Amino acid sequence: MAGQLQGKIAVVTAAGQGIGRAIAEAFAAEGATVHASDLDLGKLDGLDASKAELDVTDTEAVDAYAAAIGGIDILANVAGFVHHGTVLDCDEKAWDFSFDLNVKSMHRMIRAFLPEMITRAAANGTSGSIVNMSSGASSLKGAPNRYAYGATKAAVIGLTKAVAQDFIRSNIRCNAICPGTIESPSWLDRVEQLGKTVGGTDKAMQLFVDRQPMGRVGKPAEVAALAVYLASDAAAFTTGTAIPIDGGWTL
Ligand code: NAD
Repeated sequence: MAGQLQGKIAVVTAAGQGIGRAIAEAFAAEGATVHASDLDLGKLDGLDASKAELDVTDTEAVDAYAAAIGGIDILANVAGFVHHGTVLDCDEKAWDFSFDLNVKSMHRMIRAFLPEMITRAAANGTSGSIVNMSSGASSLKGAPNRYAYGATKAAVIGLTKAVAQDFIRSNIRCNAICPGTIESPSWLDRVEQLGKTVGGTDKAMQLFVDRQPMGRVGKPAEVAALAVYLASDAAAFTTGTAIPIDGGWTL
């Protein structure tokens, strides 16, 4: 079903690769006007979108970006980083970096874009949709060596529900997506790293696959399809949810 986002204006962070890129592509394919950003502008090559370099940990840059774009219908907050290790591997610098990039970035983006989103939703008689990228490794599930990461992604779910609650009568919906293991460039890096300790990349890949009840990892496009649904008017009655998309990992 093409055209699900016809006439809508969307912003996607971390759109250079992986899930963010798949979301930007899917939004454009469904008819949205897409503003795609990434820390690395070069990674946005080839996207059917307005492209900008944006570091979501930079409040001034985020505010200027939002002011330049104005009213939007869809905000997809995708930027995130996986810290590997337990509490004993996580010093304060690592903790602060993870929370800044994975959680405070969403706070920045929502604060910057929300006022104009509310105005546009009222003018158009539709709802604005915020889609935040959480993870199965969050309040849904404790995953090994995902101490700081799981804490940030649980915070994303809390942030999502708080925004959904506060702006429900302003026609703003806010939902979180909780993917399991998804084949993205950074995941492939993690597989390679793990391979160094378990006897090769193939073995590491198998370990990830084995923990998936479905016997495979997910694809960015599968997560993007859920983002399209949440962004679209078909999800007009859906807000404050944290939806797993994980091949049964959190079953
Ligand atoms: P990725 O990690 O391969 O790519 C991340 C992108 O973010 C890169 O293009 C990078 O340039 C950009 N980026 C990094 N720092 C940035 C910053 N400060 N500002 C703006 N952009 C920045 O992508 P992925 O693995 O698809 O992950 C995307 C999101 O999905 C993350 O929030 C991640 O936590 C979440 N997630 C991923 C998986 C998975 O298995 N891949 C599972 C669950 C959740």
